[in-house]
Amino acid sequence: MSDTAVPTVKLLIDGMFVESRTTQWRDVVNPATQAVLARVPMATADEVDAAVRAADTAFRTWRKTPVAARMRIMLKMQALIRAELPRIARLLTNEQGKTLADAEGDVIRGLEVVEHACAIGTLQMGEFLENVAGGVDTYTLQQPIGVCAGITPFNFPAMIPLWMFPMAIACGNTFVLKPSEQDPMTTMALVELALQAGVPSGVLNVVHGGKDVVDAICTHPLIRAVSFVGSTAVGTHVHDLASRHGKRVQCMMGAKNHAVVLPDAHKEHSLDALAGAAFGAAGQRCMATSVAVLVGEARDWIPEIVARARQLKVNAGVEAGTDVGPVISRAACTRITGLIAAGAAGGATLELDGRDVQVPGYTDGNFIGPTIFSGVQPEMEIYTTEIFGPVLLLMSARDLDEAIAIVNANPFGNGVGLFTQSGAAARKFQNEIDVGQVGINIPIPVPVPYFSFTGSRGSKLGDLGPYGKQAVQFYTQTKTVTSRWFDDVASAGVNTTISLK
Ligand code: NAD
Repeated sequence: MSDTAVPTVKLLIDGMFVESRTTQWRDVVNPATQAVLARVPMATADEVDAAVRAADTAFRTWRKTPVAARMRIMLKMQALIRAELPRIARLLTNEQGKTLADAEGDVIRGLEVVEHACAIGTLQMGEFLENVAGGVDTYTLQQPIGVCAGITPFNFPAMIPLWMFPMAIACGNTFVLKPSEQDPMTTMALVELALQAGVPSGVLNVVHGGKDVVDAICTHPLIRAVSFVGSTAVGTHVHDLASRHGKRVQCMMGAKNHAVVLPDAHKEHSLDALAGAAFGAAGQRCMATSVAVLVGEARDWIPEIVARARQLKVNAGVEAGTDVGPVISRAACTRITGLIAAGAAGGATLELDGRDVQVPGYTDGNFIGPTIFSGVQPEMEIYTTEIFGPVLLLMSARDLDEAIAIVNANPFGNGVGLFTQSGAAARKFQNEIDVGQVGINIPIPVPVPYFSFTGSRGSKLGDLGPYGKQAVQFYTQTKTVTSRWFDDVASAGVNTTISLK
């Protein structure tokens, strides 16, 4: 295909899908074939500014839109996305690589947040207490804060944008979204459906790009809050820059998620869960299990873990029966295979090596098969680095206390799993483990949106997480009103104290 035949990804500014005037473009590439699917612009500073100004203007009216009108748009959006699920999942598989079934899951987990946003009328209610003093009432308003921005990663191009703009808009804010430049087409398909559902011009805007666009968002004086999901290095930069520019910031970042396997665990269920969580989506989930800590005799289960991984089918995501698709890019492939080489050279035992996997019909794809190391020590590079590929590290521990100590010594705190049939062990674990999201016989404990996403420590900056009650707090400003209406009772005279009487 010649360059001119490749479609371009548009910007969305003030309700119009427009071609960028930039001179800098990058290809959106199918990771299973290297086919160029589209070209995405690196938006200019003027385009970012135009998007933010459109959002600022739209905020003046959108913030006063009746809550029922906002909820009806969310209801319509969820119906449109649900109806378009197969089309969006296919688009997602083509540009991101994950299997079609997993791509549907990506959309559905995001759709759950839209469903939750349909109840914003109840979620955004303030509080009221009468007679805080004689004839005095106090109440709180959860008011929208203004123009909010979202910056999203490549690994969930449907779910993560849907973590952000529906809740922000439902609360009465306007939004500027910066999707991942590696797979922006899925996000744009969802944005088109949002407009079809009735999101007015300027309420949702989209700019594309990399560091320059992100920095412009973090420093723009009209943006009040920034929500970021991505790597720790970029998230830390976004947090620091946007905070210095006076914005409310939430950053969900990198991870090294452990699963602790006790010898009393239900073996079949637990090892199946482990293989799915380690190798599903080619390990490119922020909540993927990347380390299993085998406690006591559970260390004897290594051959069975390897056998399960060996059975998984590596192929293009569009092919029926695929378990593990390609990783996102050639660069990611090179980085991951380099880390596997470093692991082998660094003294870990390579139980299963996925580097030379062959995928007939897709010889150009970025494929890495399931890879397993045992004998991993905390100081090894494969342990200290987020690999973000289909690589599972196995460690061993004498007992639950030692396993908890290993997990708590790791700087990340996104997710952790425990496999056991013991309620007492599970209770001790949930109490003592210093990780924000805990699964008990659940390998990927991403909460449903009535709760919030609660990664912790090195996996998060900012106090409030996406969706659930915390998102309402993040996307609103609490205003407290204390009021008295004078009646005919005579004044008690001048009150020169701070006390309410
Ligand atoms: P990334 O940090 O490279 O990119 C995220 C966003 O930042 C993208 O929109 C990108 O364009 C932008 N960006 C990239 N480099 C930048 C720079 N130098 N300055 C400013 N902006 C920049 O992340 P990714 O590779 O797209 O996604 C994978 C990472 O995201 C992994 O670390 C994963 O753990 C993390 N992640 C975390 C969560 C979570 O909830 N904690 C969820 C999904 C992904």
